[in-house]
Amino acid sequence: MSRIPYKIYLSEEELPRQWYNVRADMKTDHAPILNPGTLKPVTEEELSGIFCEELARQELNTKDRFIDIPEEVQDFYKMYRPSPLVRAYCLEKELDTPAHIYYKFEGSNTSGSHKLNSAVAQAYYAKKQGLTGLTTETGAGQWGTALSMACAYFGLDLKVYMVKNSAEKKPYRKAVMETYGAQVIPSPSDTTEVGRKILQEMPDTTGSLGCAISEAVEVAVTTPNTRYVLGSVLNQVLLHQSIIGLETKIAAEKYDIFPDILIGCAGGGSNLGGLMSAYMTDRLAGKKSPYFIAVEPASCPTLTRGKFAYDFCDTGKVTPLAKMYTLGSGFIPSGIHAGGLRYHGMSPILSQLYHDGFLDEARAVKQTECFEAAVRFARTEGILPAPESSHAIKVAVDEALKCRERGEKKTIIFGLSGTGYFDMMAFQEYINDELVDYVPSDEELEQGFKGIPQL
Ligand SMILES: *Cc1c(COP(=O)(O)O)cnc(C)c1O
Repeated sequence: MSRIPYKIYLSEEELPRQWYNVRADMKTDHAPILNPGTLKPVTEEELSGIFCEELARQELNTKDRFIDIPEEVQDFYKMYRPSPLVRAYCLEKELDTPAHIYYKFEGSNTSGSHKLNSAVAQAYYAKKQGLTGLTTETGAGQWGTALSMACAYFGLDLKVYMVKNSAEKKPYRKAVMETYGAQVIPSPSDTTEVGRKILQEMPDTTGSLGCAISEAVEVAVTTPNTRYVLGSVLNQVLLHQSIIGLETKIAAEKYDIFPDILIGCAGGGSNLGGLMSAYMTDRLAGKKSPYFIAVEPASCPTLTRGKFAYDFCDTGKVTPLAKMYTLGSGFIPSGIHAGGLRYHGMSPILSQLYHDGFLDEARAVKQTECFEAAVRFARTEGILPAPESSHAIKVAVDEALKCRERGEKKTIIFGLSGTGYFDMMAFQEYINDELVDYVPSDEELEQGFKGIPQL
Protein backbone atom coordinates (compact mmCIF):
# COMPACT_ATOMS: atom_id res chain seq x y z
CA MET A 1 0.00 0.00 0.00
CA SER A 2 1.22 3.48 -0.82
CA ARG A 3 1.68 6.10 1.87
CA ILE A 4 -1.47 6.94 3.79
CA PRO A 5 -2.69 10.42 2.79
CA TYR A 6 -2.85 13.27 5.26
CA LYS A 7 -6.60 13.35 4.99
CA ILE A 8 -8.83 10.37 4.36
CA TYR A 9 -12.18 11.41 2.97
CA LEU A 10 -15.06 9.12 2.13
CA SER A 11 -17.15 9.68 -0.96
CA GLU A 12 -20.82 10.61 -0.68
CA GLU A 13 -21.74 7.03 -1.57
CA GLU A 14 -19.72 5.71 1.35
CA LEU A 15 -21.56 7.86 3.89
CA PRO A 16 -23.40 5.73 6.47
CA ARG A 17 -27.17 5.71 5.91
CA GLN A 18 -27.98 4.37 9.35
CA TRP A 19 -26.98 5.31 12.86
CA TYR A 20 -25.75 2.58 15.19
CA ASN A 21 -27.52 2.05 18.51
CA VAL A 22 -24.84 0.55 20.80
CA ARG A 23 -27.43 0.07 23.51
CA ALA A 24 -28.90 -2.86 21.58
CA ASP A 25 -25.58 -4.70 21.96
CA MET A 26 -24.77 -3.84 25.57
CA LYS A 27 -24.33 -6.79 27.94
CA THR A 28 -26.03 -4.90 30.75
CA ASP A 29 -28.49 -2.23 29.71
CA HIS A 30 -28.20 0.98 31.68
CA ALA A 31 -30.68 1.26 34.55
CA PRO A 32 -33.97 2.78 33.38
CA ILE A 33 -34.54 6.53 33.46
CA LEU A 34 -37.00 7.22 36.29
CA ASN A 35 -39.88 9.63 36.63
CA PRO A 36 -38.81 11.67 39.70
CA GLY A 37 -42.42 11.82 40.94
CA THR A 38 -43.33 8.13 40.79
CA LEU A 39 -39.80 6.64 40.74
CA LYS A 40 -41.10 4.32 37.99
CA PRO A 41 -39.32 4.00 34.63
CA VAL A 42 -40.41 6.84 32.36
CA THR A 43 -42.69 5.93 29.50
CA GLU A 44 -42.51 7.12 25.92
CA GLU A 45 -45.66 9.10 26.59
CA GLU A 46 -44.14 10.93 29.56
CA LEU A 47 -40.97 11.69 27.62
CA SER A 48 -43.07 13.01 24.73
CA GLY A 49 -44.22 15.85 26.99
CA ILE A 50 -40.66 17.17 27.00
CA PHE A 51 -39.10 15.74 23.81
CA CYS A 52 -40.31 15.17 20.26
CA GLU A 53 -42.12 11.85 19.83
CA GLU A 54 -39.59 10.20 17.55
CA LEU A 55 -36.75 11.29 19.83
CA ALA A 56 -38.59 9.90 22.87
CA ARG A 57 -38.83 6.60 20.97
CA GLN A 58 -35.14 6.65 20.16
CA GLU A 59 -34.35 7.44 23.79
CA LEU A 60 -35.99 4.22 24.95
CA ASN A 61 -34.97 2.01 22.03
CA THR A 62 -33.02 -1.01 23.30
CA LYS A 63 -33.76 -3.29 20.34
CA ASP A 64 -32.83 -1.81 16.97
CA ARG A 65 -29.11 -1.98 16.34
CA PHE A 66 -29.40 0.29 13.31
CA ILE A 67 -31.79 3.18 12.73
CA ASP A 68 -32.25 4.79 9.31
CA ILE A 69 -30.97 8.34 8.95
CA PRO A 70 -33.86 10.26 7.31
CA GLU A 71 -33.17 11.46 3.75
CA GLU A 72 -33.56 15.10 4.82
CA VAL A 73 -30.94 14.64 7.52
CA GLN A 74 -28.65 12.84 5.08
CA ASP A 75 -29.01 15.80 2.71
CA PHE A 76 -27.91 18.18 5.43
CA TYR A 77 -25.06 15.88 6.46
CA LYS A 78 -23.81 15.95 2.87
CA MET A 79 -23.20 19.71 3.17
CA TYR A 80 -20.43 19.13 5.73
CA ARG A 81 -19.82 15.38 5.96
CA PRO A 82 -18.00 13.09 5.75
CA SER A 83 -15.54 14.70 8.12
CA PRO A 84 -11.91 13.86 7.45
CA LEU A 85 -9.83 11.31 9.31
CA VAL A 86 -6.47 13.04 9.43
CA ARG A 87 -3.04 11.50 9.86
CA ALA A 88 -1.11 13.78 12.22
CA TYR A 89 2.22 13.38 10.42
CA CYS A 90 3.49 16.75 11.61
CA LEU A 91 2.61 16.13 15.24
CA GLU A 92 4.25 12.69 15.06
CA LYS A 93 7.40 14.30 13.74
CA GLU A 94 7.37 16.97 16.44
CA LEU A 95 6.94 14.29 19.13
CA ASP A 96 9.54 12.07 17.46
CA THR A 97 7.30 9.10 18.13
CA PRO A 98 7.00 5.78 16.32
CA ALA A 99 3.25 5.90 17.06
CA HIS A 100 0.81 6.64 14.25
CA ILE A 101 -1.62 9.35 15.30
CA TYR A 102 -4.94 10.07 13.57
CA TYR A 103 -7.74 12.41 14.47
CA LYS A 104 -11.33 12.53 13.34
CA PHE A 105 -11.99 16.21 12.78
CA GLU A 106 -15.53 17.37 13.57
CA GLY A 107 -14.86 21.11 13.56
CA SER A 108 -15.11 21.91 9.86
CA ASN A 109 -18.70 23.19 9.93
CA THR A 110 -19.64 26.75 10.99
CA SER A 111 -20.78 25.72 14.47
CA GLY A 112 -17.27 24.35 14.89
CA SER A 113 -18.09 21.04 16.55
CA HIS A 114 -19.67 17.61 16.30
CA LYS A 115 -22.89 18.94 17.87
CA LEU A 116 -24.40 19.70 14.48
CA ASN A 117 -24.72 15.93 13.86
CA SER A 118 -27.44 15.66 16.49
CA ALA A 119 -28.84 19.20 16.17
CA VAL A 120 -29.94 18.63 12.59
CA ALA A 121 -31.56 15.30 13.47
CA GLN A 122 -33.43 16.76 16.42
CA ALA A 123 -34.64 19.80 14.49
CA TYR A 124 -35.79 17.55 11.66
CA TYR A 125 -37.94 15.36 13.95
CA ALA A 126 -39.41 18.48 15.59
CA LYS A 127 -40.39 19.90 12.22
CA LYS A 128 -41.81 16.58 11.08
CA GLN A 129 -44.00 16.47 14.18
CA GLY A 130 -45.37 19.92 13.35
CA LEU A 131 -43.78 21.77 16.25
CA THR A 132 -43.00 25.47 15.87
CA GLY A 133 -40.27 26.00 18.41
CA LEU A 134 -37.50 24.46 20.49
CA THR A 135 -35.73 25.42 23.69
CA THR A 136 -32.33 24.35 24.85
CA GLU A 137 -29.36 25.20 27.01
CA THR A 138 -25.83 25.78 25.89
CA GLY A 139 -22.63 25.70 27.91
CA ALA A 140 -19.74 26.94 25.88
CA GLY A 141 -22.08 27.82 23.02
CA GLN A 142 -21.32 25.08 20.53
CA TRP A 143 -24.61 23.28 20.99
CA GLY A 144 -26.62 26.50 20.83
CA THR A 145 -24.81 27.46 17.64
CA ALA A 146 -25.31 24.07 16.05
CA LEU A 147 -28.98 24.05 16.96
CA SER A 148 -29.54 27.59 15.68
CA MET A 149 -28.11 26.49 12.33
CA ALA A 150 -30.41 23.46 12.28
CA CYS A 151 -33.48 25.50 13.34
CA ALA A 152 -32.77 28.12 10.69
CA TYR A 153 -32.59 25.35 8.07
CA PHE A 154 -35.89 23.77 9.11
CA GLY A 155 -37.66 27.04 10.00
CA LEU A 156 -38.13 26.63 13.77
CA ASP A 157 -38.06 29.23 16.57
CA LEU A 158 -35.30 28.70 19.09
CA LYS A 159 -34.66 29.95 22.64
CA VAL A 160 -31.20 29.22 24.01
CA TYR A 161 -30.37 29.44 27.72
CA MET A 162 -26.65 30.09 27.78
CA VAL A 163 -24.54 29.50 30.90
CA LYS A 164 -23.83 33.02 32.16
CA ASN A 165 -20.10 32.43 32.53
CA SER A 166 -19.84 31.54 28.84
CA ALA A 167 -22.22 34.26 27.68
CA GLU A 168 -19.92 36.84 29.28
CA LYS A 169 -16.69 35.24 28.07
CA LYS A 170 -17.92 34.60 24.53
CA PRO A 171 -20.03 37.51 23.27
CA TYR A 172 -19.49 36.50 19.64
CA ARG A 173 -21.08 33.12 20.21
CA LYS A 174 -24.28 34.96 21.03
CA ALA A 175 -23.93 37.00 17.85
CA VAL A 176 -23.56 33.85 15.75
CA MET A 177 -26.66 32.30 17.27
CA GLU A 178 -28.61 35.50 16.69
CA THR A 179 -27.37 35.58 13.11
CA TYR A 180 -29.09 32.23 12.65
CA GLY A 181 -32.23 33.66 14.26
CA ALA A 182 -32.08 32.25 17.81
CA GLN A 183 -32.95 34.15 21.00
CA VAL A 184 -30.14 33.87 23.56
CA ILE A 185 -30.73 34.32 27.32
CA PRO A 186 -27.88 34.19 29.88
CA SER A 187 -28.66 31.64 32.61
CA PRO A 188 -29.67 31.75 35.40
CA SER A 189 -32.20 34.37 34.31
CA ASP A 190 -35.32 35.97 35.72
CA THR A 191 -37.39 34.65 32.79
CA THR A 192 -38.21 31.36 34.55
CA GLU A 193 -39.37 30.31 37.98
CA VAL A 194 -36.42 28.00 38.50
CA GLY A 195 -33.99 30.70 37.33
CA ARG A 196 -35.41 33.22 39.80
CA LYS A 197 -35.12 30.67 42.60
CA ILE A 198 -31.49 29.87 41.79
CA LEU A 199 -30.66 33.59 41.58
CA GLN A 200 -32.22 34.15 44.99
CA GLU A 201 -30.17 31.34 46.53
CA MET A 202 -26.92 32.10 44.70
CA PRO A 203 -27.00 35.66 43.34
CA ASP A 204 -23.34 35.55 42.24
CA THR A 205 -23.42 32.21 40.46
CA THR A 206 -21.78 32.06 37.05
CA GLY A 207 -24.32 29.41 36.09
CA SER A 208 -24.00 25.79 35.06
CA LEU A 209 -25.31 23.52 32.37
CA GLY A 210 -27.61 21.81 34.89
CA CYS A 211 -29.16 25.13 35.79
CA ALA A 212 -29.62 26.22 32.16
CA ILE A 213 -31.29 22.86 31.44
CA SER A 214 -33.84 23.51 34.19
CA GLU A 215 -34.75 26.85 32.65
CA ALA A 216 -35.02 25.52 29.11
CA VAL A 217 -37.19 22.57 30.20
CA GLU A 218 -39.51 24.88 32.13
CA VAL A 219 -40.07 27.08 29.08
CA ALA A 220 -40.57 24.05 26.80
CA VAL A 221 -43.30 22.49 28.94
CA THR A 222 -45.12 25.79 29.43
CA THR A 223 -45.05 26.96 25.78
CA PRO A 224 -47.44 25.43 23.21
CA ASN A 225 -45.97 23.47 20.26
CA THR A 226 -42.55 23.66 21.83
CA ARG A 227 -40.22 20.95 23.00
CA TYR A 228 -36.89 20.78 24.71
CA VAL A 229 -33.78 19.39 23.04
CA LEU A 230 -30.47 18.45 24.60
CA GLY A 231 -27.08 18.33 22.94
CA SER A 232 -25.39 15.57 24.92
CA VAL A 233 -25.85 12.92 27.63
CA LEU A 234 -29.04 11.39 26.16
CA ASN A 235 -29.15 8.08 24.30
CA GLN A 236 -30.67 9.75 21.22
CA VAL A 237 -27.67 12.11 21.02
CA LEU A 238 -25.18 9.24 21.26
CA LEU A 239 -27.17 7.51 18.54
CA HIS A 240 -26.87 10.49 16.17
CA GLN A 241 -23.20 10.92 17.02
CA SER A 242 -22.50 7.31 16.04
CA ILE A 243 -21.99 8.74 12.55
CA ILE A 244 -18.52 9.87 13.78
CA GLY A 245 -17.36 6.37 14.63
CA LEU A 246 -19.04 4.70 11.66
CA GLU A 247 -17.26 7.02 9.25
CA THR A 248 -14.00 6.60 11.13
CA LYS A 249 -14.18 2.83 10.89
CA ILE A 250 -15.05 2.80 7.18
CA ALA A 251 -12.20 5.23 6.42
CA ALA A 252 -9.74 3.31 8.62
CA GLU A 253 -10.62 -0.06 7.13
CA LYS A 254 -10.05 1.31 3.63
CA TYR A 255 -6.42 1.83 4.56
CA ASP A 256 -5.98 -1.13 6.90
CA ILE A 257 -5.70 1.10 9.92
CA PHE A 258 -6.63 -0.45 13.23
CA PRO A 259 -6.55 1.76 16.33
CA ASP A 260 -4.81 0.29 19.37
CA ILE A 261 -5.99 3.24 21.41
CA LEU A 262 -9.12 5.35 20.92
CA ILE A 263 -9.35 8.63 22.82
CA GLY A 264 -12.08 11.22 23.25
CA CYS A 265 -12.90 14.03 25.64
CA ALA A 266 -15.99 13.47 27.74
CA GLY A 267 -18.37 16.15 28.92
CA GLY A 268 -21.76 14.51 28.63
CA GLY A 269 -20.19 11.72 26.61
CA SER A 270 -21.63 12.26 23.13
CA ASN A 271 -18.56 12.77 20.94
CA LEU A 272 -16.65 9.99 22.67
CA GLY A 273 -19.71 7.74 22.68
CA GLY A 274 -20.20 8.44 18.98
CA LEU A 275 -16.58 7.86 18.05
CA MET A 276 -16.32 4.76 20.18
CA SER A 277 -19.54 2.93 19.39
CA ALA A 278 -18.59 1.51 15.99
CA TYR A 279 -15.58 -0.10 17.67
CA MET A 280 -17.42 -0.89 20.89
CA THR A 281 -19.63 -3.26 18.94
CA ASP A 282 -16.53 -5.45 18.44
CA ARG A 283 -15.55 -5.24 22.09
CA LEU A 284 -19.03 -6.28 23.16
CA ALA A 285 -18.88 -9.21 20.73
CA GLY A 286 -15.55 -10.34 22.24
CA LYS A 287 -13.55 -9.39 19.15
CA LYS A 288 -10.34 -7.41 18.87
CA SER A 289 -10.97 -3.79 19.80
CA PRO A 290 -9.05 -0.66 20.79
CA TYR A 291 -8.25 0.42 24.33
CA PHE A 292 -10.80 3.17 25.03
CA ILE A 293 -9.86 6.27 27.03
CA ALA A 294 -12.25 9.01 28.17
CA VAL A 295 -10.61 12.31 29.10
CA GLU A 296 -12.25 14.76 31.45
CA PRO A 297 -11.18 17.96 33.21
CA ALA A 298 -9.66 17.59 36.69
CA SER A 299 -11.97 20.45 37.70
CA CYS A 300 -15.09 18.42 36.85
CA PRO A 301 -13.99 14.80 37.42
CA THR A 302 -17.26 12.95 36.83
CA LEU A 303 -15.94 9.52 35.84
CA THR A 304 -12.73 9.52 37.84
CA ARG A 305 -14.11 10.80 41.16
CA GLY A 306 -17.91 10.76 40.83
CA LYS A 307 -20.47 8.29 42.17
CA PHE A 308 -22.39 5.79 40.03
CA ALA A 309 -25.90 6.56 41.22
CA TYR A 310 -29.34 7.79 40.26
CA ASP A 311 -29.32 11.55 40.02
CA PHE A 312 -31.14 14.45 38.43
CA CYS A 313 -29.82 15.66 35.10
CA ASP A 314 -30.29 19.31 36.09
CA THR A 315 -29.73 21.63 39.04
CA GLY A 316 -33.41 22.50 39.38
CA LYS A 317 -34.30 18.81 39.82
CA VAL A 318 -37.12 18.91 37.26
CA THR A 319 -35.71 16.33 34.83
CA PRO A 320 -36.01 12.53 35.13
CA LEU A 321 -33.48 10.59 37.20
CA ALA A 322 -30.71 8.77 35.38
CA LYS A 323 -28.27 6.26 36.78
CA MET A 324 -24.89 7.63 35.81
CA TYR A 325 -21.57 8.80 37.11
CA THR A 326 -22.33 12.09 38.83
CA LEU A 327 -20.81 14.75 41.04
CA GLY A 328 -24.28 15.69 42.26
CA SER A 329 -26.70 17.93 40.38
CA GLY A 330 -25.83 20.80 42.76
CA PHE A 331 -22.14 20.64 41.84
CA ILE A 332 -21.11 23.86 40.11
CA PRO A 333 -17.63 23.48 38.66
CA SER A 334 -15.09 26.29 38.71
CA GLY A 335 -15.26 28.58 35.68
CA ILE A 336 -12.79 26.62 33.59
CA HIS A 337 -12.80 27.43 29.93
CA ALA A 338 -13.67 24.02 28.58
CA GLY A 339 -17.30 25.00 29.07
CA GLY A 340 -18.58 21.98 27.19
CA LEU A 341 -17.07 19.71 29.80
CA ARG A 342 -18.62 21.45 32.80
CA TYR A 343 -21.40 18.99 33.45
CA HIS A 344 -22.02 17.14 36.70
CA GLY A 345 -23.28 13.93 35.08
CA MET A 346 -22.37 11.58 32.23
CA SER A 347 -24.25 9.68 29.54
CA PRO A 348 -25.96 6.63 31.15
CA ILE A 349 -24.69 4.46 28.26
CA LEU A 350 -21.10 5.59 28.74
CA SER A 351 -21.46 5.32 32.51
CA GLN A 352 -22.64 1.72 32.26
CA LEU A 353 -19.91 0.79 29.76
CA TYR A 354 -17.33 2.32 32.09
CA HIS A 355 -18.80 0.61 35.13
CA ASP A 356 -18.71 -2.75 33.33
CA GLY A 357 -15.12 -2.25 32.16
CA PHE A 358 -15.85 -1.96 28.42
CA LEU A 359 -14.80 1.69 28.40
CA ASP A 360 -11.32 0.92 29.65
CA GLU A 361 -10.12 4.07 31.32
CA ALA A 362 -11.05 7.58 32.36
CA ARG A 363 -8.32 10.12 32.88
CA ALA A 364 -8.62 13.59 34.39
CA VAL A 365 -6.30 16.30 33.13
CA LYS A 366 -5.68 19.91 34.16
CA GLN A 367 -6.55 22.77 31.88
CA THR A 368 -3.08 24.34 31.65
CA GLU A 369 -1.61 21.06 30.38
CA CYS A 370 -4.49 20.88 27.89
CA PHE A 371 -3.76 24.35 26.58
CA GLU A 372 -0.09 23.44 26.32
CA ALA A 373 -1.09 20.48 24.14
CA ALA A 374 -3.57 22.65 22.22
CA VAL A 375 -0.92 25.22 21.32
CA ARG A 376 1.54 22.51 20.32
CA PHE A 377 -1.15 20.95 18.13
CA ALA A 378 -2.10 24.29 16.56
CA ARG A 379 1.54 25.03 15.71
CA THR A 380 2.17 21.63 14.15
CA GLU A 381 -1.12 20.50 12.65
CA GLY A 382 -2.48 23.96 11.87
CA ILE A 383 -5.92 23.53 13.44
CA LEU A 384 -6.80 25.65 16.46
CA PRO A 385 -8.59 23.14 18.66
CA ALA A 386 -11.48 23.70 21.07
CA PRO A 387 -10.38 23.62 24.72
CA GLU A 388 -12.64 20.58 25.17
CA SER A 389 -10.93 18.73 22.33
CA SER A 390 -7.56 19.66 23.81
CA HIS A 391 -8.23 17.18 26.57
CA ALA A 392 -8.14 14.40 23.99
CA ILE A 393 -5.04 15.91 22.36
CA LYS A 394 -3.24 16.01 25.70
CA VAL A 395 -3.79 12.30 26.30
CA ALA A 396 -2.99 11.38 22.67
CA VAL A 397 0.32 13.24 23.06
CA ASP A 398 1.02 11.47 26.36
CA GLU A 399 0.33 8.08 24.81
CA ALA A 400 2.49 8.89 21.79
CA LEU A 401 5.35 9.91 24.09
CA LYS A 402 4.97 6.64 25.99
CA CYS A 403 5.34 4.88 22.64
CA ARG A 404 8.57 6.78 22.08
CA GLU A 405 9.94 5.70 25.47
CA ARG A 406 9.00 2.10 24.90
CA GLY A 407 9.70 1.97 21.19
CA GLU A 408 6.12 0.91 20.46
CA LYS A 409 4.48 1.56 17.11
CA LYS A 410 0.90 1.89 18.29
CA THR A 411 -1.92 3.42 16.31
CA ILE A 412 -3.81 6.13 18.14
CA ILE A 413 -7.07 7.67 16.97
CA PHE A 414 -8.52 10.58 18.87
CA GLY A 415 -11.62 12.70 18.41
CA LEU A 416 -10.92 16.31 17.53
CA SER A 417 -14.42 17.36 18.44
CA GLY A 418 -14.16 21.01 17.45
CA THR A 419 -12.32 24.27 16.87
CA GLY A 420 -11.57 26.98 19.41
CA TYR A 421 -12.05 30.27 17.57
CA PHE A 422 -14.53 31.48 20.17
CA ASP A 423 -12.22 30.59 23.02
CA MET A 424 -9.50 33.11 22.25
CA MET A 425 -9.86 34.77 25.64
CA ALA A 426 -8.81 31.49 27.23
CA PHE A 427 -5.93 31.08 24.78
CA GLN A 428 -4.90 34.67 25.50
CA GLU A 429 -4.87 33.96 29.24
CA TYR A 430 -2.79 30.87 28.63
CA ILE A 431 -0.31 32.80 26.47
CA ASN A 432 -0.16 35.53 29.17
CA ASP A 433 0.50 32.86 31.80
CA GLU A 434 -2.68 33.82 33.63
CA LEU A 435 -4.55 30.55 33.37
CA VAL A 436 -4.82 28.60 36.63
CA ASP A 437 -5.73 25.01 37.43
CA TYR A 438 -8.45 24.11 39.80
CA VAL A 439 -8.95 20.69 41.34
CA PRO A 440 -11.83 20.36 43.80
CA SER A 441 -10.98 18.92 47.21
CA ASP A 442 -12.68 15.78 48.54
CA GLU A 443 -14.64 18.03 50.89
CA GLU A 444 -15.95 20.10 47.98
CA LEU A 445 -16.99 16.95 46.14
CA GLU A 446 -18.72 15.70 49.31
CA GLN A 447 -20.91 18.82 49.18
CA GLY A 448 -22.06 17.82 45.71
CA PHE A 449 -22.60 14.17 46.68
CA LYS A 450 -24.91 15.28 49.49
CA GLY A 451 -27.35 16.47 46.84
CA ILE A 452 -27.65 13.03 45.20
CA PRO A 453 -31.11 11.64 46.05
CA GLN A 454 -31.22 8.56 48.31
CA LEU A 455 -33.36 6.00 46.51
C1 LIG B 1 -19.89 19.98 23.72
C2 LIG B 1 -18.53 19.65 23.33
C3 LIG B 1 -17.83 18.61 23.96
C4 LIG B 1 -18.36 17.84 25.11
O1 LIG B 1 -19.57 17.20 24.93
P1 LIG B 1 -19.70 15.63 24.72
O2 LIG B 1 -21.15 15.38 24.76
O3 LIG B 1 -18.97 14.96 25.85
O4 LIG B 1 -19.12 15.34 23.41
C5 LIG B 1 -16.57 18.32 23.50
N1 LIG B 1 -15.99 19.01 22.50
C6 LIG B 1 -16.63 20.03 21.89
C7 LIG B 1 -15.93 20.76 20.80
C8 LIG B 1 -17.92 20.38 22.28
O5 LIG B 1 -18.54 21.37 21.66
